[in-house]
Amino acid sequence: MAWRCSGVSNPDLINRMVQAKLISNSSVQAAMLAVDRGHFSRFKPYEDSPQTIGYNSTISAPHMHAAALESLAPFLFPGAKALDVGSGSGYLTVCMAEMVGPQGRAVGVEHIPELVELAIQNTKKGHPEFLQDNRVAFHHADGRVGFPQDAPYDCIHVGAAAYKLHDKLVEQLKSPGRMFIPVGDEEGQAIYVVDKDKDGNVSKKKTMNVWYVPLTDAEHQRNR
Ligand code: SAH
Repeated sequence: MAWRCSGVSNPDLINRMVQAKLISNSSVQAAMLAVDRGHFSRFKPYEDSPQTIGYNSTISAPHMHAAALESLAPFLFPGAKALDVGSGSGYLTVCMAEMVGPQGRAVGVEHIPELVELAIQNTKKGHPEFLQDNRVAFHHADGRVGFPQDAPYDCIHVGAAAYKLHDKLVEQLKSPGRMFIPVGDEEGQAIYVVDKDKDGNVSKKKTMNVWYVPLTDAEHQRNR
């Protein structure tokens, strides 16, 4: 059903994903209804496809955002702390902030400074209070080493394809905690769901095949 859920408005897009059973968790549905994708994508925001945001980056397709939030939902409870690596447009970081509520926190990390600024401006359109009360923060940093300043996290979302499961990211997960990360290269990528249990044991499960921009260094990305 992926790719078939394009709508004419934000509620239409989300309702189509609910009908297609891409969204089944009510907090995911509420968050995606509360965050207007039109604030985060200049082009075709309600189409179920990735769109350019400049700097060789894209806002991911809505069905991928839905898949990530569905997977991480048990770790996006009220009061939880979430890290979004490669926050790009800021869309998913703000959805995470919706789910963790006023006592929680969602931290976005992005290595292109212009995109950090874009995410802040996008967030101000619908959720300026999230920035004022620090429920959401966007930082300019290399996300391959996570964001130790705010660690540990109940969950980590990685929005770009890593060539390996970076140790620092796994280290920054709480026990229990979960990470949703695309791993692979131009030849092929898949989502890995990495779980750390309450005793600190780490297990990983390969789920769907995907296509993401690479988790790389800023210079390499600008010259792609
Ligand atoms: N979830 C975002 C995805 C944006 S695409 C959205 O839907 O808007 C992936 C993002 O990862 C890009 O913005 C890219 O600049 C960023 N990125 C790539 N490598 C990175 C790195 N090493 N550290 C931080 N951000 C990185």
